[in-house]
Amino acid sequence: MKALLLSIFLCLSANSAKNVYICVSPSAKKYHYNKLCRGLKNCTHTIKEVSLQEAKDLNYSICGFED
Ligand SMILES: [Zn+2]
Repeated sequence: MKALLLSIFLCLSANSAKNVYICVSPSAKKYHYNKLCRGLKNCTHTIKEVSLQEAKDLNYSICGFED
């Protein structure tokens, strides 16, 4: 539980910009503040930079883990 919270914290703390990164894939449901996030490395599709609001509008949720 603490590890999970720490991961979320790291993900949030990496946010210095207003945009987030999403993997444009039918199976991708997370948005990432860090473009280097391990979750994005698994992306075999296009990585797209969008606004946080746009990511939420597309039903993406916050990334659960970050390197
Ligand atoms: Zn992430």
